[in-house]
Amino acid sequence: MGNFIFGCRFLVFVFSTWTTVSSGDIFSPEAKQFATDIDRRINENVNPCDDFYEYSCFNPTPVNSTRIVVGSEIRQTILNRLKTGKKPGDGEAVNKYYDLYKQCSTVQTDENFNQTILDYVHDFDKLFEGVGKIDASQLAKITAYLLVHHGFSLITTLGKSKPVHKRFSNFRSILSIEAPKSLSQDVLYFFDPTRADKFKDILRSHYAFINSTVDKKYLNKLASDMYNLEFAIAHVVPAPRDVKNVQTMTVSEAMKTFPTVDWRTVVTLLASYSGVDLLDGTKLDDYPLVFENSNTTKLILEIIAKTPQELLKNYFKTRIVGVFVSCEALTTTTLPLIKQHLYIIDLYPTAADRANFKRFATKIADNIITNVRKMLEEITWIKNDKQTYAGFTDKMNKLTKIIGYPDGLDDQAHLDRLHSDFALSANETMTSMYLKCFKFLAKSILDDRVIIHLDMTSVNAYYNPNSNIIGIPIAMLQLISPNDIPAAIYGNVGTTIGHEIIHGFDVYGAQFDGDGDINPWMSQAGQASFDSMVQCVVNEYNEFNATDAKNNTFKVNGAQTAGENVADNGGIRAAYNAFLSDPEWDKPFPRTPKLKDTTNEQLFFLAFNRFWCIPPFDASLASHFLHSPSKVRVLGTLRNFEPFRKAFNCPANSQYAPEKHCDVYTPSEGSTSNAQSMTSNVAAFTLLSFFMILFVL
Ligand SMILES: [Zn+2]
Repeated sequence: MGNFIFGCRFLVFVFSTWTTVSSGDIFSPEAKQFATDIDRRINENVNPCDDFYEYSCFNPTPVNSTRIVVGSEIRQTILNRLKTGKKPGDGEAVNKYYDLYKQCSTVQTDENFNQTILDYVHDFDKLFEGVGKIDASQLAKITAYLLVHHGFSLITTLGKSKPVHKRFSNFRSILSIEAPKSLSQDVLYFFDPTRADKFKDILRSHYAFINSTVDKKYLNKLASDMYNLEFAIAHVVPAPRDVKNVQTMTVSEAMKTFPTVDWRTVVTLLASYSGVDLLDGTKLDDYPLVFENSNTTKLILEIIAKTPQELLKNYFKTRIVGVFVSCEALTTTTLPLIKQHLYIIDLYPTAADRANFKRFATKIADNIITNVRKMLEEITWIKNDKQTYAGFTDKMNKLTKIIGYPDGLDDQAHLDRLHSDFALSANETMTSMYLKCFKFLAKSILDDRVIIHLDMTSVNAYYNPNSNIIGIPIAMLQLISPNDIPAAIYGNVGTTIGHEIIHGFDVYGAQFDGDGDINPWMSQAGQASFDSMVQCVVNEYNEFNATDAKNNTFKVNGAQTAGENVADNGGIRAAYNAFLSDPEWDKPFPRTPKLKDTTNEQLFFLAFNRFWCIPPFDASLASHFLHSPSKVRVLGTLRNFEPFRKAFNCPANSQYAPEKHCDVYTPSEGSTSNAQSMTSNVAAFTLLSFFMILFVL
């Protein structure tokens, strides 16, 4: 569907107002749409050198980021697809997906549905029986029980990882203890002043479902307490990433480091509930756990220790009720690979279509990878330093890319095999069906069949330093099409791809080598040059102020956001170089009224910001986001990038062209800087109810 984002009325407007272009036929529909969209965003009363963000995003009110628009459309497409049901030729696994949705919808209409949920939820009370205060063993039982039976994460999400210490190198893949995603963290990322209230409403109604005779005053207080608990967790998840916080330790070591949880019980119960042989012959005490962010684990455990048992119990039960609200969520969460499969084959029904898409997307990605390599090879402290250069080259050579989707996601036979152990009988009860779903999901994760946060239907992109892999999902790639002009392709998705690759060379990612091991690969001198480049960015961003939608201003935390800022700054340069290396970079485009004198270089930056018209997040949460607010991302990235000031002919020392700025991965001749990307958190504009289950594992 390419860039088909905006409605026809805009096209009508454009056709009727173009004056300088002879025939509409010479431009592709995508090029016309792009020009129309850029045109409607431009606010000519603002000088781009003073406030480019405002100039190209607000006219007069913000026009939503293409990413948000496309993300919502995709979510809707997935839900619609679920409702259309089976098609001839669907494989077994696909049929299971529809059957699950159908059975779920059926049990939801059952007259005993509510009572069954209540039984299911009250079953949880047994875990609390006979103990005055939650002890280590009980916390372990609750953690494992919630994870496998309800898909709800408390202390940890379920995942597999690789050990970070050589002494564990004989373990290929071990249990990863990663802090859970909290509800409010996602919900508040895209600011909406009513979201906190909506969230409390949900908590209230779910608790009222458990206890219908609850006193209203008590209910309000409880909803507030539960919200505060959730919010407290949101504030410590995720703390800024730091390899010092990644720790691999044996179960017996974990018992000493985090003694408020009985880790022996956690591992034993996870294996037993899910049916996965986690230990694989290892002695329980010797089995290694990776704490992906041990600092966060510590903080969450402190919050839990301080929370009254009654509140914790009510909070868990209330969240469990949330799991039952949506059959769409249950189906897509249990069988995420099928959700992605259907999205892919609906977009590109034939193998030839898919091959064409992959060819196009891979060409763009390869062009950017090539330009990242060229750009970094020109950095003095890399090219002139044997050790640093060798480490850099090794990382680039071993970079793995997933463009569009991983192999096998379009292959029904492969999916059938992966789902052969998921089977619903014709007459599942609600309880048996939910249990099968969650157990299957837990098993899929522990068997490495599913990486839950790698969703190819998300308008997002990823870099994983632990495996040195970049992933550019097919959904993100729907923002571009072969029929777009290059400025639209490289300014938008191109800068994102650049950003993700530079994550391998940012403050966090640079600490991992080409094999994904935490292993310093720069020489001392190289490290010192890198540190001073980063320090400039930290200081620079520390000076930026941001304003949220409630008009609260706050200071950007340069150190906390340094990784993302470096990736933004490095990514745009690679994408821009790739753009200029495209033989068609200066391709003609529709001359809408506001684009009469626009150059292709300028269009690249307009395409870049088109992506960042995102409402600011809540100031109160700023302390825990790794990304700068979007307005600051645009400002910081462009003011450090000389081609921007050249493109717009910005006078020296205008806001977007200060003489004093940082050169991030800027080859010594000339200047430059970088771009941006996107990471996590983007799925956040989905329905609240969807979140209730998203976190689940
Ligand atoms: Zn990023």
